Amino acid sequence: MSRFRMYPTPAQQDALLEQCGHARYVWNLALEQWSMWTRETRRAPSFAEQCRQLTAARAAFDWLRAGSQTVQQQALRDFDQAVKHFYARTHRRPTWRRAGRSEGFRIVGPQAARVTKLNRRWAAALVPKVGWVRFRLSRAVPNAKSYRVTRDRVGRWHIAFAVAPKPIPNPGMGLVVGVDRGVIVSAALSTGDRLTCPSLSKAEQRRLRYLQRRLAHCRPGSNRGQRVRAAIAKLHARTGDRRKDWVEKTSTDLARRFDVIRVEDLRITSMTMRPKPKPDPGCPGAFLPNRRRAKAGLNRSILANGWGALIRRLEHKAAGRVEKVNPAHTSQTCSVCRHCAPENRESQAVFRCVACGHQANADVNAALNIAAGRAVSARGETPVPVSPKREPQLATSA
Ligand SMILES: [Zn+2]
Repeated sequence: MSRFRMYPTPAQQDALLEQCGHARYVWNLALEQWSMWTRETRRAPSFAEQCRQLTAARAAFDWLRAGSQTVQQQALRDFDQAVKHFYARTHRRPTWRRAGRSEGFRIVGPQAARVTKLNRRWAAALVPKVGWVRFRLSRAVPNAKSYRVTRDRVGRWHIAFAVAPKPIPNPGMGLVVGVDRGVIVSAALSTGDRLTCPSLSKAEQRRLRYLQRRLAHCRPGSNRGQRVRAAIAKLHARTGDRRKDWVEKTSTDLARRFDVIRVEDLRITSMTMRPKPKPDPGCPGAFLPNRRRAKAGLNRSILANGWGALIRRLEHKAAGRVEKVNPAHTSQTCSVCRHCAPENRESQAVFRCVACGHQANADVNAALNIAAGRAVSARGETPVPVSPKREPQLATSA
Protein backbone atom coordinates (compact mmCIF):
# COMPACT_ATOMS: atom_id res chain seq x y z
CA MET A 1 0.00 0.00 0.00
CA SER A 2 1.23 3.28 -0.89
CA ARG A 3 -0.77 5.85 1.00
CA PHE A 4 -1.23 9.58 0.38
CA ARG A 5 -3.05 12.22 2.38
CA MET A 6 -6.06 13.46 0.42
CA TYR A 7 -7.55 16.92 0.65
CA PRO A 8 -11.13 16.95 -0.69
CA THR A 9 -13.07 20.20 -0.75
CA PRO A 10 -16.00 20.42 1.69
CA ALA A 11 -18.44 19.54 -1.10
CA GLN A 12 -16.28 16.62 -2.13
CA GLN A 13 -16.09 15.45 1.48
CA ASP A 14 -19.88 15.20 1.56
CA ALA A 15 -19.89 13.27 -1.70
CA LEU A 16 -17.14 10.96 -0.49
CA LEU A 17 -18.92 10.33 2.80
CA GLU A 18 -22.03 9.42 0.85
CA GLN A 19 -20.05 6.84 -1.13
CA CYS A 20 -18.62 5.52 2.13
CA GLY A 21 -22.16 5.19 3.42
CA HIS A 22 -23.21 3.21 0.34
CA ALA A 23 -20.23 0.89 0.61
CA ARG A 24 -20.98 0.39 4.29
CA TYR A 25 -24.65 -0.27 3.62
CA VAL A 26 -23.87 -2.89 1.00
CA TRP A 27 -21.20 -4.53 3.15
CA ASN A 28 -23.47 -4.72 6.19
CA LEU A 29 -26.32 -6.07 4.10
CA ALA A 30 -24.05 -8.81 2.75
CA LEU A 31 -22.84 -9.55 6.27
CA GLU A 32 -26.38 -9.80 7.57
CA GLN A 33 -27.37 -12.24 4.83
CA TRP A 34 -24.22 -14.26 5.26
CA SER A 35 -24.61 -14.65 9.04
CA MET A 36 -28.31 -15.50 8.69
CA TRP A 37 -27.79 -18.04 5.95
CA THR A 38 -24.89 -19.79 7.57
CA ARG A 39 -26.76 -20.17 10.84
CA GLU A 40 -29.95 -21.53 9.37
CA THR A 41 -29.09 -23.35 6.19
CA ARG A 42 -25.33 -23.83 6.45
CA ARG A 43 -24.95 -22.31 3.00
CA ALA A 44 -24.02 -18.75 2.22
CA PRO A 45 -25.39 -16.79 -0.76
CA SER A 46 -22.97 -16.69 -3.65
CA PHE A 47 -21.35 -13.53 -4.92
CA ALA A 48 -23.44 -13.68 -8.11
CA GLU A 49 -26.59 -14.00 -6.06
CA GLN A 50 -25.65 -10.99 -3.95
CA CYS A 51 -24.96 -8.98 -7.11
CA ARG A 52 -28.48 -9.73 -8.29
CA GLN A 53 -29.79 -8.56 -4.94
CA LEU A 54 -27.76 -5.39 -5.23
CA THR A 55 -29.33 -4.67 -8.60
CA ALA A 56 -32.75 -5.15 -7.03
CA ALA A 57 -31.84 -2.90 -4.10
CA ARG A 58 -30.61 -0.19 -6.48
CA ALA A 59 -33.89 -0.39 -8.37
CA ALA A 60 -35.82 -0.01 -5.12
CA PHE A 61 -33.85 2.79 -3.46
CA ASP A 62 -33.22 6.10 -5.20
CA TRP A 63 -30.45 7.08 -2.78
CA LEU A 64 -28.55 3.87 -3.48
CA ARG A 65 -29.01 4.22 -7.24
CA ALA A 66 -27.60 7.75 -7.05
CA GLY A 67 -24.32 6.27 -5.89
CA SER A 68 -21.65 4.62 -7.95
CA GLN A 69 -22.29 1.04 -8.97
CA THR A 70 -18.53 0.47 -9.15
CA VAL A 71 -18.18 1.33 -5.48
CA GLN A 72 -21.14 -0.76 -4.37
CA GLN A 73 -20.19 -3.82 -6.37
CA GLN A 74 -16.66 -3.60 -5.10
CA ALA A 75 -17.94 -3.60 -1.51
CA LEU A 76 -19.66 -6.91 -2.29
CA ARG A 77 -16.51 -8.29 -3.86
CA ASP A 78 -14.48 -7.19 -0.83
CA PHE A 79 -16.96 -8.89 1.45
CA ASP A 80 -16.75 -12.06 -0.62
CA GLN A 81 -12.96 -11.96 -0.25
CA ALA A 82 -13.24 -11.37 3.50
CA VAL A 83 -15.44 -14.45 3.84
CA LYS A 84 -12.96 -16.53 1.85
CA HIS A 85 -10.13 -15.31 4.08
CA PHE A 86 -12.19 -16.18 7.14
CA TYR A 87 -12.81 -19.74 5.93
CA ALA A 88 -9.13 -20.09 5.07
CA ARG A 89 -8.49 -19.08 8.72
CA THR A 90 -6.04 -16.38 7.77
CA HIS A 91 -8.28 -13.51 8.83
CA ARG A 92 -10.89 -12.89 11.44
CA ARG A 93 -14.62 -13.08 10.89
CA PRO A 94 -15.88 -10.07 8.91
CA THR A 95 -17.55 -7.56 11.18
CA TRP A 96 -20.05 -4.73 10.91
CA ARG A 97 -18.87 -1.53 9.31
CA ARG A 98 -19.73 1.36 11.57
CA ALA A 99 -20.36 4.95 10.62
CA GLY A 100 -17.51 7.22 11.62
CA ARG A 101 -15.22 4.31 12.41
CA SER A 102 -14.57 2.29 9.29
CA GLU A 103 -15.31 4.69 6.49
CA GLY A 104 -13.96 3.86 3.09
CA PHE A 105 -14.46 2.29 -0.30
CA ARG A 106 -12.39 0.73 -3.01
CA ILE A 107 -12.08 1.38 -6.73
CA VAL A 108 -10.76 -1.41 -8.92
CA GLY A 109 -10.17 -1.61 -12.64
CA PRO A 110 -9.48 0.96 -15.35
CA GLN A 111 -11.05 3.74 -13.28
CA ALA A 112 -8.29 3.31 -10.72
CA ALA A 113 -5.73 4.42 -13.27
CA ARG A 114 -7.21 7.90 -13.64
CA VAL A 115 -4.60 9.89 -11.78
CA THR A 116 -3.17 13.22 -12.93
CA LYS A 117 -0.11 15.00 -11.66
CA LEU A 118 -0.95 18.67 -11.11
CA ASN A 119 2.48 19.91 -10.15
CA ARG A 120 5.49 18.86 -8.14
CA ARG A 121 3.52 18.60 -4.92
CA TRP A 122 -0.02 17.78 -5.89
CA ALA A 123 -1.88 15.18 -7.90
CA ALA A 124 -5.55 14.36 -8.33
CA ALA A 125 -7.50 11.13 -8.68
CA LEU A 126 -10.80 10.85 -10.49
CA VAL A 127 -13.25 9.33 -8.02
CA PRO A 128 -16.53 8.14 -9.60
CA LYS A 129 -19.47 10.48 -8.80
CA VAL A 130 -17.15 12.83 -6.89
CA GLY A 131 -14.74 14.18 -9.47
CA TRP A 132 -11.06 15.04 -9.28
CA VAL A 133 -9.88 14.94 -5.69
CA ARG A 134 -6.49 16.38 -4.85
CA PHE A 135 -3.88 14.53 -2.85
CA ARG A 136 -0.46 15.46 -1.61
CA LEU A 137 2.44 13.90 -3.51
CA SER A 138 4.69 12.67 -0.74
CA ARG A 139 6.39 10.29 -3.22
CA ALA A 140 5.83 8.96 -6.73
CA VAL A 141 2.37 7.56 -7.48
CA PRO A 142 2.66 3.86 -8.23
CA ASN A 143 1.02 2.25 -11.21
CA ALA A 144 -1.81 0.42 -9.43
CA LYS A 145 -4.88 -1.51 -10.46
CA SER A 146 -6.89 -0.42 -7.46
CA TYR A 147 -7.04 2.15 -4.72
CA ARG A 148 -8.90 2.64 -1.49
CA VAL A 149 -10.25 5.92 -0.20
CA THR A 150 -10.56 6.08 3.58
CA ARG A 151 -11.43 8.51 6.28
CA ASP A 152 -9.93 7.76 9.66
CA ARG A 153 -11.62 8.42 12.95
CA VAL A 154 -9.84 11.73 13.30
CA GLY A 155 -11.31 12.90 9.99
CA ARG A 156 -8.20 12.61 7.81
CA TRP A 157 -8.77 11.37 4.27
CA HIS A 158 -6.30 9.08 2.56
CA ILE A 159 -5.96 7.45 -0.81
CA ALA A 160 -4.01 4.20 -0.83
CA PHE A 161 -2.86 2.48 -4.00
CA ALA A 162 -2.58 -1.27 -3.82
CA VAL A 163 0.88 -2.17 -4.94
CA ALA A 164 2.76 -5.28 -4.10
CA PRO A 165 6.06 -3.94 -2.78
CA LYS A 166 9.10 -4.83 -4.80
CA PRO A 167 10.46 -8.14 -3.61
CA ILE A 168 13.68 -7.69 -1.69
CA PRO A 169 16.54 -9.90 -2.92
CA ASN A 170 17.70 -12.48 -0.42
CA PRO A 171 21.26 -12.24 0.89
CA GLY A 172 22.00 -15.72 -0.55
CA MET A 173 23.97 -16.99 2.39
CA GLY A 174 21.50 -19.73 3.33
CA LEU A 175 20.58 -17.95 6.53
CA VAL A 176 17.42 -19.06 8.32
CA VAL A 177 15.72 -17.07 11.04
CA GLY A 178 12.85 -18.08 13.33
CA VAL A 179 10.46 -15.41 14.53
CA ASP A 180 8.36 -16.07 17.59
CA ARG A 181 5.38 -14.00 18.60
CA GLY A 182 6.50 -13.43 22.14
CA VAL A 183 4.65 -12.61 25.30
CA ILE A 184 7.23 -10.33 26.89
CA VAL A 185 8.28 -8.64 23.65
CA SER A 186 6.19 -8.70 20.51
CA ALA A 187 8.63 -10.69 18.40
CA ALA A 188 11.77 -12.60 19.26
CA LEU A 189 14.30 -13.72 16.67
CA SER A 190 16.37 -16.87 16.84
CA THR A 191 19.39 -14.57 16.60
CA GLY A 192 18.56 -13.37 20.09
CA ASP A 193 17.19 -10.04 18.90
CA ARG A 194 13.99 -8.98 20.53
CA LEU A 195 11.69 -6.62 18.68
CA THR A 196 9.01 -4.48 20.22
CA CYS A 197 6.04 -3.38 18.19
CA PRO A 198 5.04 0.04 19.49
CA SER A 199 1.69 0.06 21.23
CA LEU A 200 0.17 2.34 23.82
CA SER A 201 2.65 3.62 26.38
CA LYS A 202 1.77 3.37 30.06
CA ALA A 203 0.79 7.06 30.08
CA GLU A 204 -1.33 6.65 26.97
CA GLN A 205 -3.06 3.61 28.45
CA ARG A 206 -3.85 5.66 31.54
CA ARG A 207 -5.19 8.47 29.39
CA LEU A 208 -7.30 6.05 27.35
CA ARG A 209 -8.83 4.54 30.48
CA TYR A 210 -9.54 8.03 31.78
CA LEU A 211 -11.20 9.07 28.49
CA GLN A 212 -13.27 5.90 28.38
CA ARG A 213 -14.47 6.53 31.92
CA ARG A 214 -15.40 10.08 30.95
CA LEU A 215 -17.21 8.88 27.87
CA ALA A 216 -19.29 6.55 30.01
CA HIS A 217 -20.56 9.58 31.91
CA CYS A 218 -21.43 11.63 28.82
CA ARG A 219 -24.94 11.77 27.48
CA PRO A 220 -25.08 9.90 24.14
CA GLY A 221 -24.81 12.33 21.24
CA SER A 222 -23.77 15.26 23.42
CA ASN A 223 -21.04 17.66 22.31
CA ARG A 224 -18.87 16.67 25.22
CA GLY A 225 -19.24 13.02 24.29
CA GLN A 226 -18.16 13.79 20.76
CA ARG A 227 -15.09 15.63 21.95
CA VAL A 228 -14.08 12.73 24.18
CA ARG A 229 -14.70 10.31 21.33
CA ALA A 230 -12.47 12.38 19.04
CA ALA A 231 -9.70 12.35 21.64
CA ILE A 232 -9.94 8.55 21.87
CA ALA A 233 -9.85 8.28 18.09
CA LYS A 234 -6.74 10.44 17.96
CA LEU A 235 -4.98 8.18 20.42
CA HIS A 236 -5.85 5.11 18.35
CA ALA A 237 -4.81 6.79 15.11
CA ARG A 238 -1.43 7.68 16.57
CA THR A 239 -0.69 4.12 17.68
CA GLY A 240 -1.92 2.84 14.33
CA ASP A 241 0.54 5.05 12.46
CA ARG A 242 3.36 3.99 14.75
CA ARG A 243 2.53 0.32 14.23
CA LYS A 244 2.40 0.62 10.43
CA ASP A 245 5.79 2.26 10.44
CA TRP A 246 7.25 -0.52 12.60
CA VAL A 247 5.78 -3.22 10.35
CA GLU A 248 7.36 -1.67 7.23
CA LYS A 249 10.79 -1.25 8.76
CA THR A 250 10.87 -4.66 10.42
CA SER A 251 9.67 -6.60 7.37
CA THR A 252 12.22 -4.88 5.13
CA ASP A 253 14.99 -5.57 7.61
CA LEU A 254 14.11 -9.28 7.96
CA ALA A 255 13.72 -9.76 4.21
CA ARG A 256 17.14 -8.19 3.65
CA ARG A 257 19.01 -10.09 6.33
CA PHE A 258 17.69 -13.63 5.95
CA ASP A 259 17.07 -16.10 3.15
CA VAL A 260 14.37 -18.11 4.89
CA ILE A 261 12.07 -16.65 7.50
CA ARG A 262 10.16 -19.16 9.59
CA VAL A 263 7.12 -18.02 11.53
CA GLU A 264 4.37 -19.75 13.40
CA ASP A 265 1.39 -20.78 11.34
CA LEU A 266 -1.41 -18.51 12.45
CA ARG A 267 -4.05 -20.77 10.97
CA ILE A 268 -3.10 -23.30 13.58
CA THR A 269 -2.65 -20.87 16.45
CA SER A 270 -5.91 -19.05 15.75
CA MET A 271 -5.35 -15.50 16.86
CA THR A 272 -8.50 -15.41 18.93
CA MET A 273 -7.96 -18.73 20.68
CA ARG A 274 -8.46 -18.68 24.42
CA PRO A 275 -5.94 -20.64 26.47
CA LYS A 276 -7.44 -23.74 28.09
CA PRO A 277 -7.99 -23.61 31.87
CA LYS A 278 -5.27 -25.54 33.66
CA PRO A 279 -6.57 -27.43 36.73
CA ASP A 280 -4.28 -27.48 39.75
CA PRO A 281 -3.49 -31.16 40.51
CA GLY A 282 -2.65 -30.39 44.14
CA CYS A 283 -5.85 -28.53 44.79
CA PRO A 284 -9.06 -29.77 43.12
CA GLY A 285 -11.32 -27.01 41.91
CA ALA A 286 -8.47 -24.49 41.66
CA PHE A 287 -6.63 -23.47 38.51
CA LEU A 288 -3.03 -22.73 37.66
CA PRO A 289 -2.04 -19.64 35.65
CA ASN A 290 -2.65 -20.32 31.97
CA ARG A 291 -1.38 -17.08 30.33
CA ARG A 292 -4.94 -16.01 29.77
CA ARG A 293 -4.26 -12.57 31.22
CA ALA A 294 -1.26 -12.26 28.96
CA LYS A 295 -3.43 -12.99 25.95
CA ALA A 296 -6.16 -10.56 26.95
CA GLY A 297 -6.10 -6.82 27.09
CA LEU A 298 -5.93 -3.93 24.73
CA ASN A 299 -2.20 -3.97 24.16
CA ARG A 300 -2.28 -7.66 23.34
CA SER A 301 -4.87 -7.12 20.65
CA ILE A 302 -2.87 -4.23 19.20
CA LEU A 303 0.20 -6.43 19.10
CA ALA A 304 -1.81 -9.23 17.51
CA ASN A 305 -2.75 -6.80 14.74
CA GLY A 306 0.86 -5.77 14.30
CA TRP A 307 1.90 -9.40 14.09
CA GLY A 308 -0.61 -10.26 11.38
CA ALA A 309 0.44 -7.20 9.38
CA LEU A 310 4.11 -8.10 9.75
CA ILE A 311 3.56 -11.59 8.32
CA ARG A 312 1.53 -10.20 5.39
CA ARG A 313 4.25 -7.69 4.51
CA LEU A 314 6.95 -10.31 4.87
CA GLU A 315 5.10 -12.52 2.41
CA HIS A 316 5.11 -9.64 -0.07
CA LYS A 317 8.69 -8.57 0.39
CA ALA A 318 10.23 -12.01 0.84
CA ALA A 319 7.89 -13.88 -1.49
CA GLY A 320 8.50 -17.62 -1.37
CA ARG A 321 10.95 -17.28 1.50
CA VAL A 322 8.47 -17.27 4.38
CA GLU A 323 7.76 -20.68 5.87
CA LYS A 324 4.97 -21.40 8.29
CA VAL A 325 5.65 -23.76 11.12
CA ASN A 326 3.19 -25.51 13.39
CA PRO A 327 3.73 -23.64 16.68
CA ALA A 328 2.71 -26.51 18.99
CA HIS A 329 5.20 -27.03 21.85
CA THR A 330 7.70 -24.45 20.58
CA SER A 331 7.60 -22.70 23.95
CA GLN A 332 8.13 -25.89 25.99
CA THR A 333 10.82 -27.58 23.94
CA CYS A 334 14.51 -27.11 24.69
CA SER A 335 16.27 -25.71 21.64
CA VAL A 336 19.49 -27.53 22.59
CA CYS A 337 18.51 -31.08 23.62
CA ARG A 338 14.90 -31.04 22.33
CA HIS A 339 13.51 -32.21 25.65
CA CYS A 340 9.86 -31.15 25.76
CA ALA A 341 8.18 -30.54 29.11
CA PRO A 342 5.90 -27.84 30.51
CA GLU A 343 8.28 -27.60 33.52
CA ASN A 344 10.96 -26.23 31.19
CA ARG A 345 9.13 -22.97 31.24
CA GLU A 346 10.33 -21.59 34.53
CA SER A 347 8.43 -18.35 34.16
CA GLN A 348 6.98 -16.30 31.37
CA ALA A 349 10.38 -14.83 30.57
CA VAL A 350 12.78 -17.60 31.55
CA PHE A 351 13.27 -20.99 29.94
CA ARG A 352 15.28 -23.58 31.86
CA CYS A 353 15.54 -27.10 30.51
CA VAL A 354 14.93 -29.69 33.22
CA ALA A 355 16.95 -32.27 31.26
CA CYS A 356 20.13 -30.44 30.20
CA GLY A 357 19.95 -27.25 32.23
CA HIS A 358 20.03 -24.97 29.18
CA GLN A 359 18.80 -21.54 30.17
CA ALA A 360 17.58 -18.84 27.82
CA ASN A 361 15.03 -16.17 27.25
CA ALA A 362 11.78 -18.06 26.72
CA ASP A 363 10.80 -16.23 23.54
CA VAL A 364 14.23 -16.58 21.96
CA ASN A 365 14.24 -20.31 22.79
CA ALA A 366 10.88 -20.65 21.02
CA ALA A 367 12.21 -18.68 18.05
CA LEU A 368 15.14 -21.10 17.78
CA ASN A 369 12.70 -24.01 17.66
CA ILE A 370 10.71 -22.26 14.96
CA ALA A 371 13.91 -21.58 13.02
CA ALA A 372 14.78 -25.27 13.20
CA GLY A 373 11.28 -26.15 12.00
CA ARG A 374 11.09 -28.79 14.69
CA ALA A 375 8.02 -27.34 16.26
CA VAL A 376 5.98 -30.53 16.29
CA SER A 377 8.70 -32.95 17.35
CA ALA A 378 6.96 -33.67 20.64
CA ARG A 379 4.11 -35.37 18.84
CA GLY A 380 6.41 -37.13 16.44
CA GLU A 381 4.97 -35.41 13.39
CA THR A 382 7.18 -34.43 10.52
CA PRO A 383 8.67 -30.99 10.87
CA VAL A 384 8.83 -28.60 7.96
CA PRO A 385 11.19 -30.20 5.43
CA VAL A 386 14.55 -28.55 5.06
CA SER A 387 15.67 -27.92 1.50
CA PRO A 388 17.61 -31.00 0.37
CA LYS A 389 19.97 -29.04 -1.86
CA ARG A 390 21.75 -27.19 0.85
CA GLU A 391 21.32 -27.63 4.56
CA PRO A 392 20.57 -24.05 5.63
CA GLN A 393 22.63 -22.90 8.54
CA LEU A 394 20.95 -21.36 11.50
CA ALA A 395 21.62 -17.71 12.00
CA THR A 396 22.66 -17.53 15.62
CA SER A 397 24.19 -14.10 15.54
CA ALA A 398 23.26 -11.04 13.57
ZN1 LIG B 1 17.71 -29.25 27.12
